Amino acid sequence: MMQLSCPWCGPRNVNEFHHDGPLHHRPDPTATTVEEWRHYLYIRENPHGVVEERWYHAAGCRKFLVVTRDTRTNTVIPAEGESR
Ligand SMILES: [Zn+2]
Repeated sequence: MMQLSCPWCGPRNVNEFHHDGPLHHRPDPTATTVEEWRHYLYIRENPHGVVEERWYHAAGCRKFLVVTRDTRTNTVIPAEGESR
C-alpha cells in the first residue's frame, strides 16, 4: 500500500489523502493573454514522469502538502532530508 509522508502527521496510508493534481502556478492576470489564462483555468497536463503534486490530508491534519511522485512507477520521491 502506498504511503505519503505528511510533514505534520508522519507517514500515513494514501487513503487518508485527496489528490489535488499537479502543481501549476497562477499567472499574473495583468500580464497574461486570454489564451494563457484559459490554459491555466481549464487545461490539465497528464505528465508521464516525475511531477510535483498537491495532496490534501483529509483524514488527518486537513492541510495541503506537496508530494513529488513518479507517475510511471507510482513511486513517491522523498523530500530532501526526509527519510523513508
Ligand atoms: Zn497530516
